[in-house]
Amino acid sequence: MKPTVLIAYAGHKEVGIEAEILRAAGAEVVAAVDIDTPEAIATYPEADALMVTIQEVPAALLDQMPRCKIVCRVGTGMDAIDIPAATARGIWATNVPDYSIDEVSTHAMALLLALARNLFRHRGTARDGVWRYQSERPIRRFAGQTLGILGLGRIGRASAAKGHGLGLTVIGCDPYVSDEPFASLGVRRVDIETLLQTSDFLTLHVPLTDETRRVIDARALALMKPTAFLVNTARGDVVDIDALVEAVRGGTIAGAGIDVLPSEPPPPDHPVLHEEGIIVTPHIGWASIESGHDVRERGARDVVRVLAGERPTYPWNEVTDHLSGVHA
Ligand code: NAD
Repeated sequence: MKPTVLIAYAGHKEVGIEAEILRAAGAEVVAAVDIDTPEAIATYPEADALMVTIQEVPAALLDQMPRCKIVCRVGTGMDAIDIPAATARGIWATNVPDYSIDEVSTHAMALLLALARNLFRHRGTARDGVWRYQSERPIRRFAGQTLGILGLGRIGRASAAKGHGLGLTVIGCDPYVSDEPFASLGVRRVDIETLLQTSDFLTLHVPLTDETRRVIDARALALMKPTAFLVNTARGDVVDIDALVEAVRGGTIAGAGIDVLPSEPPPPDHPVLHEEGIIVTPHIGWASIESGHDVRERGARDVVRVLAGERPTYPWNEVTDHLSGVHA
């Protein structure tokens, strides 16, 4: 019997790249427009593999997929996948960690540059026919300013290199990596208080975990300079979004660039969308033609590996034996 792969991305059914790879490996492909549509639900019992983007994959869903051998997150952040539940059921949990390092770090720099140069404000004044450089917020030269990076992993390291390229001094905080990447990248290692107090630009590149959830709260924002900017391309829940809006509105910090929000999309009247000092982009940090291709291809190839009884390239858990049917 051919293995069945359920592809359930949030909101789109175009799965040509994945389907070509999976069908060439002898699999049936069911593309559903989301994880909870009638078509997807009808496929749960026979699905040998599940490919998702940002959807929640809790234990209760895995219990309805007794044949499932791999949940592939076609993206990076694994916070929505119940990995212990997958492990307990003998299911590989995988992602594609390396498809958008360049894109996300560039997006962080794009937000930083737009904030630093007050780009959108001046676009508006130019359109209004106001032709002058002065604005209520003075612009400062990069030389002598400091970029702080929380999380010196793949994207944090790429951001450090790009920050240096812009002429910024770079400092970083990551208790889970050795001194080596700090030294080789020329990033001064600091604790989180120093990071908050010293950064003129603070960019977040941590995964969402119990420890990082709302690590940037009102207390943390109060430690930042009133001239500082916050950039978040990591996960929305790393920042207390209400506290951030208050901090920008009240002048605790100068502004923020936000690609990720606790709830996406936010309601149209959410204050974060309407605060002058905050630039919001709709979770596009990862996006490019090339990254969009790479993530789908690499995800599909890991599914093929697991269906062939091999170890995936990007495992987040250890699975010795698939417990087919046992966990139903
Ligand atoms: P990574 O795992 O390579 O790096 C994360 C780093 O954060 C690690 O070095 C880790 O040690 C560090 N870290 C963990 N907890 C920390 C803490 N409490 N304090 C300081 N550092 C801590 O991940 P990555 O590939 O660099 O991606 C980072 C995050 O970016 C992902 O988890 C994902 O949520 C997000 N992301 C967003 C987009 C987007 O489109 N906006 C795209 C891809 C990834």
